Amino acid sequence: MMALFDSHCHIDFEQFNDDRDDVFARMRDAGVTRLVAVSVELEQTPRLIDLVESHYGVWFSVGVHPNHGVDHEPTVDQLCKLAGHEKCVAIGESGMDFFRANVDPKTQEQRFRTHIRAAHAVNKPVIVHMRDADDATLRILKEENIAGCGGIMHCFSSTCKAARQALDMGMSISFSGNVTFKRNDELRNIATQIPEDSILIETDAPYLAPVPMRGKRNEPAFVKHVAECIAEVRGISVEHLADITTANALKRFQLI
Ligand SMILES: [Zn+2]
Ligand SMILES: [Zn+2]
Repeated sequence: MMALFDSHCHIDFEQFNDDRDDVFARMRDAGVTRLVAVSVELEQTPRLIDLVESHYGVWFSVGVHPNHGVDHEPTVDQLCKLAGHEKCVAIGESGMDFFRANVDPKTQEQRFRTHIRAAHAVNKPVIVHMRDADDATLRILKEENIAGCGGIMHCFSSTCKAARQALDMGMSISFSGNVTFKRNDELRNIATQIPEDSILIETDAPYLAPVPMRGKRNEPAFVKHVAECIAEVRGISVEHLADITTANALKRFQLI
C-alpha cells in the first residue's frame, strides 16, 4: 500500500470546518497517511495542538507567515516555547514575499531571521515561503546558516538556479499543485532535476488544487495528483515517488 506524506497544508483553516472528518477520511482512502498542518499566525497554535492530539499521522509547525499582519512581532523565545510540544516538527511558515507585500520588506526580513534563530535553538527545520523574493530569501538563509537546522522550500515555484542554491545549503524542495498546471513546463523540468533525497510533495490546501481538481478547494487527498505528475516526468512509478518523498519527509521532520 502506497503511503504519501503531505508536507504542507492548512487543514485547520475554516474552509474545512464543515467537513474536516470527511477530508481526513478521503485522505486515508487516497493513501495519504501523514501531513504537517502549517502555521501562519501564533494565535492558531492551540487549534493546531487540538488537531494533532486528536489525529494519528498529523504534526504541526509554529510560525508567522511573512505577509501576515500582527500587533506584536514574534520573538525567538515565544517561538521556542510554542515549538516545545512533542508534535511540533518545524518552524514556519516564514520567509519573504514581495508579491503581495502586506508587510514591509524590513519587517519581513527581521521576522524571517527571528524564525531561523528559533529553529536553531530548538533544532527543527524551517518551512520557507519564497515568492518574488529569491535574492532576499536566499541571502538571509545563507547569512543565518540555514544548513545548521535545515529547511524546506515550500510550494517551490522559482528558477532552477534558486533551487540549486537552496540544495547547496542542504534544503529540501517541496512541490505543490502548481507543478501540474499546464503552463508550468519549466517547473516540471526542475522537478526532474532535484536529487532523489531532497524532494518533497505538498498540497498547501486549501489553496492551489492540482490538475484535475484545479479551481476546487484543495485537500490533502489531492497530493496524490502532485505525486503522479512528478513520477511521470521523472519516469518512475508513483509508488517509488511515494516511497522517496515520504522517507524524505520523515527524515526532514526528524520523525525517524
Ligand atoms: Zn506559503
Ligand atoms: Zn502555506
